[in-house]
Amino acid sequence: MKIKKRAIVTGGAGFLGSHLCERLLQLEYEVLCVDNYFTGRRANVEHLLTNTSFELMRHDITFPLYVEADEIYNLACPASPVHYQFDPVQTTKVNVMGAINMLGLAKRVKARIFQASTSEVYGNPAVHPQPESYRGDVNPIGIRSCYDEGKRCAETLFFDYYRQHNVDIKVARIFNTYGPRMHPNDGRVVSNFIMQSLKGEDITIYGDGMQTRSFCYVDDLINGFLALMSAPRDVTGPINLGNPGEFTMRDLAEKTIEMTGSSSKIVYLPLPEDDPMQRKPDLTLAKRALEWEPKIRLEQGLAETIKYFEKYVYE
Ligand code: NAD
Ligand code: UDP
Ligand code: UDP
Repeated sequence: MKIKKRAIVTGGAGFLGSHLCERLLQLEYEVLCVDNYFTGRRANVEHLLTNTSFELMRHDITFPLYVEADEIYNLACPASPVHYQFDPVQTTKVNVMGAINMLGLAKRVKARIFQASTSEVYGNPAVHPQPESYRGDVNPIGIRSCYDEGKRCAETLFFDYYRQHNVDIKVARIFNTYGPRMHPNDGRVVSNFIMQSLKGEDITIYGDGMQTRSFCYVDDLINGFLALMSAPRDVTGPINLGNPGEFTMRDLAEKTIEMTGSSSKIVYLPLPEDDPMQRKPDLTLAKRALEWEPKIRLEQGLAETIKYFEKYVYE
């Protein structure tokens, strides 16, 4: 009998985690999904429960976890500003104490460990697009700091476990990603605009809507995760993963209205504190080291995502 590799996915019942669990099962891994359901949902992985290679565990990774694995994907952390600002102390805890526990586990069982870091480590970037060498412009005491500084400290921990304990690390800096299984009330821009359009509610643009983001479709991103995780040991990252297409929030609002055929109108609300003005990944390193680049255009990915959200509104 073939011995399957064992992977742990923390945050596995969340948006990205559920897609990752699904792909790992297709690749014949045994998957342990660890989640405390803060922003994730059992419904996201319900279809995997009948697979005997899949196991679901309710656990908060700020507490130690003693299990066995060959690979660990550390995704546990709320990603939407609304949710990570709801309990900012817990956000820092999951990023820092959660990382320590997962790195301690990786060290003990000699597992390769992947960290879901973020483009937020660049803060409100003065360099555009952002290469991995850019060190960012982050406010250490603002309302986004629990997430931004938490993720920065997690990167520090990953590289110290690498240097001090020779742990086999992979650090991805993920740029805004969207797709099916985002929570309809997640609060992020893509899910907000689609839900508002489908319900005929006002589309809420924060600020003047001229701030930019680059949106990556989830399937492309998961391919990037797998490419990084299977890269040689010396490819530690940090490495940007995202889509370089850059759009203003006005562009996104107009596109969403058009694609849903909505009668919604746009309203302008105050811009939240420390909201970055621009963001776009420099993918030179990802292309060279992983031979990876995203393939799915925004219109294509939005169409899939709209289809997913329609069932919340029409069923
Ligand atoms: P998500 O909120 O859907 O998923 C996060 C998951 O982590 C949820 O299932 C949540 O319940 C779980 N979780 C939170 N705290 C936990 C804890 N203490 N113990 C165990 N589980 C816990 O968000 P997502 O978009 O799937 O993001 C996944 C990861 O990717 C996060 O680490 C996020 O910071 C990172 N990331 C995402 C994006 C993006 O655009 N989606 C961009 C950059 C980074
Ligand atoms: N840890 C864990 N699972 C393990 C091994 C360690 O959760 O399988 C936790 C452990 O509780 C510790 C943390 O990871 O607090 C860091 O472990 P490490 O061995 O680096 O440090 P130490 O145990 O020496 O504090
Ligand atoms: N945004 C918006 N309307 C919304 C939600 C978000 O205009 O209903 C803006 C937000 O201010 C930010 C951008 O969209 O400039 C992306 O926000 P999101 O929360 O998706 O992710 P961020 O990149 O800020 O973490």
